[in-house]
Amino acid sequence: MTASATGSARFLIVGPQGSGKGTQGVLVAEAFGIPSVSTGDVFRANISGGTELGERVKSIVEAGDLVPDELTSELVRDRLSQPDASTGFLLDGYPRNQGQLDDLDEFLRSRGEALDVVIELVVPREESIRRLHQRAIEQGRTDDTEEVIANRLAIYERETAPILGIYRDRGVVAEIDGVGSLDEVTSRIFANLAERGFQPAADAAATA
Ligand code: ADP
Repeated sequence: MTASATGSARFLIVGPQGSGKGTQGVLVAEAFGIPSVSTGDVFRANISGGTELGERVKSIVEAGDLVPDELTSELVRDRLSQPDASTGFLLDGYPRNQGQLDDLDEFLRSRGEALDVVIELVVPREESIRRLHQRAIEQGRTDDTEEVIANRLAIYERETAPILGIYRDRGVVAEIDGVGSLDEVTSRIFANLAERGFQPAADAAATA
């Protein structure tokens, strides 16, 4: 499946709203043949599907607030317990605060696992706001209004950015300049992963 020093590919992609993490995350997951687990996507799918979970989180997501840690962590644990996530996964949008980081640590530790790489997309605030406004026009996401965008960015800066310090201390953060074309950013991510010994299977076969 994947070629890495440890045989695993457990990734997390982090970046402010509008950094392109969703798009880049899917590309990385596809290349490595690992499932992409986006908590935002799971919540949105449940809201549009009118499920019980969707009903519970609808007003929270529409206000740009964080869904309670307990609920979010349980959802992620369930997903990561599926067989297709046994040797790798790409988390997008989780953990995003200290409580969730602790929950994830506990879960992974209980399985003798840990995150291999935290891909941090670095995008200045003004650029991220500009892209969100563009997306609001193109996609009409209900949480892309002026007020809700400001709330989500504030939560990112207050709760999510600080947890990167913890991962940095563990030496697993790959800082990627997120400004540029989609392809440029993708190339930077793959180059950085390769330097760390993580190469998609197709590449590995070609160089073997
Ligand atoms: P963005 O990063 O642009 O805010 P996401 O798709 O990652 O978009 O998340 C959308 C919304 O889903 C968040 O504003 C929040 O309400 C909810 N959400 C996503 N991930 C989490 C999480 N890890 N913890 C709590 N709430 C979350």
